[in-house]
Parts: sequence; C-alpha cells; structure tokens
Amino acid sequence: MNTQLPTLVMATNNPHKLHEIREILEGQYRVMSLDEIGCHDDIPETAETLEGNALIKARWVKERYGYDCFADDTGLEVEALGGAPGVYSARWAGPGCTPADNVAKMLRVMQGQSNRRARFRTVIALIKDGKETLVDGTVDGEILDKPVGDNGFGYDPIFSPSNSGVSFAQMTDEQKNSISHRGRATRALLQHLANTQ
Ligand code: IMP
Repeated sequence: MNTQLPTLVMATNNPHKLHEIREILEGQYRVMSLDEIGCHDDIPETAETLEGNALIKARWVKERYGYDCFADDTGLEVEALGGAPGVYSARWAGPGCTPADNVAKMLRVMQGQSNRRARFRTVIALIKDGKETLVDGTVDGEILDKPVGDNGFGYDPIFSPSNSGVSFAQMTDEQKNSISHRGRATRALLQHLANTQ
C-alpha cells in the first residue's frame, strides 16, 4: 500500500463498500477503514435524515480520531408509503431484524398496492481540509411483488430500476454500480475531490 498518498477514512467496516471505493480511488487516495484507525465505536445513527446520519458518522471520526473522512447513508424511499422506510431502511422490521425480514415486511405492506414507485438514495458526507460537503445519488424504480435474483444484498431482490426489466439482484456488480444510487453518489464524491485537489 502506498503510504505517500493522502489518507481518507471511510466510516465503515463493510468490506463491499471498502472494496468498491478503493477500486475507484486507487492511486489517488489511501482509504482506511474504521478498524484500521482503531475505531471500534458503535457510532449512533440517531438523525432523522440520511444527510444527518452521514454527517454524524463523518464528524465522529474527524473529532475523535483527527482524520479527514467520508461516510455514507442509504435509504429506500417508497412513494405509496410517503417516502418510508427512508432513513429507517436498515431496521424497518424492528430491532435486530435481518434483510430478509425487511424484504418480507415490504412485500406485505405493498400487497395490492398499484403505485409501486420507489427510489434508492445514498448521501455521502465528506469532511476534508476543514470543510463539510454533502453529495448524493439516486436511482428510480419500482417494488416488485416477489423477490427475484440471487446477487446483491438488502432490498435488491425486490427493487427493479426503471426500464431495466430486471431486479438489482439479477445484475452483476458492474451493471448495478453503473446505475445505482451508491455508484452515482460515489462518482459525485470523486468529481468533488478532483475539483478541489
Ligand atoms: P446503509 O446505509 O448502506 O447501511 O443501508 C441502509 C439500508 O438500506 C440497509 O437495510 C441496506 O440493506 C439497504 N441498502 C443499502 N444499499 C442497498 C442496495 O444497494 N441494495 C439494496 N438494499 C440496500
């Protein structure tokens, strides 16, 4: 690993997210995980917006560990549910719930609902050189009436991006990243970093 590069901490230990971002920032930034900076804190995600939670995580790392940092937060916003589960997507089916529990709840509450429009939204908060910046990425689509496909994670088997004809769980990582909320937010982050270098 090249330690001469500027360091950015990503406020996560999720190996999928770290792998994805390291591929993109390769040769430009050294991206460290929370584990790698010795942060084993259970960072509270108590805000009522994706922006708020992303900022809590990034500020936690900057204030306690001193590193420039970015943090992401994602939600699934369903039109017929007034934008729910949104910021509560991870724990929608209750404390300690699994992704399968969340999928089952979504299928249940959307049963018989004709408006199935939904979108994923990812917000990334960056704290770098003393400045806070927020970028986001969205993908529109619809909630399917049953799970399809084995790839991906979370709500992927029941979310079909507009005009794709398949679920996220039927796409390769590359196909999903090229249109996904997180892919778009990550590219917006990259663009911002390039503009401010
Ligand atoms: P997080 O903010 O990335 O931790 O995600 C919050 C919730 O949204 C979790 O329940 C995830 O499983 C779900 N989620 C985040 N990104 C995706 C995705 O790309 N596909 C499906 N579910 C996702």
